[in-house]
Amino acid sequence: MSAVLVLNAGSSSLKFQVVDPETGEAHAKGIVERVGSKGSTISVTVDGEESETSASAPDHGAATELMRTTLADRGVDLASSGLVAVGHRVVHGGRSLTEPTVVDDKVLAEIERVAELAPLHNPANIDGIRSATKAFPDLPQVAVFDTAFFSDLPAEASTYAIDRELADKHAIRRYGFHGTSHEFVSAEAARFLGREGDADLKQIVLHLGNGASASAVRGGRPVDTSMGLTPLEGLVMGTRGGDIDPGVLLHLHRVAGLSVSDLDTLLNKKSGILGVSGIGDFRDLASAVHDGDDDARLTLDIYLHRLRKYIGAYAAVLGGVDVVTFTAGVGENSVELREEALKGLEFLGIRIDGRRNKGKNDGPRVISTDSSAVTVLVVPTNEELAIARHTVATIA
Ligand code: AMP
Repeated sequence: MSAVLVLNAGSSSLKFQVVDPETGEAHAKGIVERVGSKGSTISVTVDGEESETSASAPDHGAATELMRTTLADRGVDLASSGLVAVGHRVVHGGRSLTEPTVVDDKVLAEIERVAELAPLHNPANIDGIRSATKAFPDLPQVAVFDTAFFSDLPAEASTYAIDRELADKHAIRRYGFHGTSHEFVSAEAARFLGREGDADLKQIVLHLGNGASASAVRGGRPVDTSMGLTPLEGLVMGTRGGDIDPGVLLHLHRVAGLSVSDLDTLLNKKSGILGVSGIGDFRDLASAVHDGDDDARLTLDIYLHRLRKYIGAYAAVLGGVDVVTFTAGVGENSVELREEALKGLEFLGIRIDGRRNKGKNDGPRVISTDSSAVTVLVVPTNEELAIARHTVATIA
C-alpha cells in the first residue's frame, strides 16, 4: 500500500491526513488546533473513530511531533505506513511556482519570498514544510499551490486595470485561490457527466466554505475566478467581505485614522458574515434567519446577491453555462442556500428539483430537474485527495 501524508498548516492549526492516492481512502486524519497558544488540542480520527485530547503545541514543529505520537498511540505508526511522500498545501506560489513542486532549498526560498503576497498563510505553510522535513527526512516534500490552477488565467481576467509598470514591479495580478478545489471539483463534475475532455463544457464552480470563491471553467481550464491578488476579493465569506470599493479604505484611513494594520484586520477578520451580523458561523446565521433576526436576513441577502451576480457574470464570460456546481462546507450542506442562490436565475435555464436538492449522497449528485437546460450539481470537494494525487504525480 502506498500513502501520502497531506499537511495543511494554517497560522494556528495543522490539519493532517494519511491518504491512499488511488482509492482516496483516508486511513487517519486530524487537526492540531491552537498551535502557538495555550490550550492546544489534537483530534484524530482513525478508521472512523474520533478522539480528542489536550496537549502542548507551542509551534508547528511541536504540532508535527504531537501528530506523530498521537497517531502512534492510536496504532498508526507513520514510519511503517507505506508513506511515499508528504504533500503540503501552500497558499501562494507567486508568479513562478505554478505547478506542484518537490521542495528543495531554492523552492523554499521562493515560497518565503512570495510570502509578502500571503502574509497570513505562507509563513505557516513554510513552518509546516520545515517541521515535516525534520520529522521525515527521507521522504520527498511536495508543495501544491492554491494558486497553481489559475496561473494561466487569460490576461484580461488576471490583469488589474492599474499602472502597468507598478503592477509588474510588484507582481500585482489576480492569482486566484482554492485552485486545488476548483480543479478537483470541475474535473469530478465533467467525469460524473461523462464529459471529460469536452473542450466546450462551460462550468461555474461555487466553492462556498468559510472562505468562498467562484470560478468559470471552460473545457477544464479556468477563464476567471473571484479571488485576486489575495483571498479577499470576490464573494462574501465568513469574516471577509469580498468585493469592496477601494475608496472605502482610503476614506476610513482619512476620516477614522485606520492604519494599514487596522484595515488588514477589518478586511480579513471583521467583515463578511461576522462583520455585518456579528455571527461567525454559517449554520448559526441560517438559524438566526429562521428565528426572524433582521440583521441575519440582511447578511444572507447580501451573500446571495453577490453570489447571483457572479453566476450571471460568469455565464456572460463563458458565453452560456452548462453546469453549476456547489461545493465546500456551505455549498455541500445547505439545502436552503442552494435553493435561494438560484432563485430568479430561471432565465439562464436553471431549474432546481426541490426533492433532489434535499437528498444526500457521499459523491457527486444532480439537483436540477431533468428539463433544466443547466445541470446543477453538488460535488464534495476533497483537497487532501487532490494534493495526494498531485504529490505522487510530481515524484513519479
Ligand atoms: P469549510 O470551510 O468548507 O470547512 O466550510 C465551513 C463552513 O461550512 C462553516 O461556515 C459552516 O457553518 C458551514 N457548514 C457546515 N455544515 C453546514 C450545514 N449543514 N449547513 C450550513 N452550513 C454548514
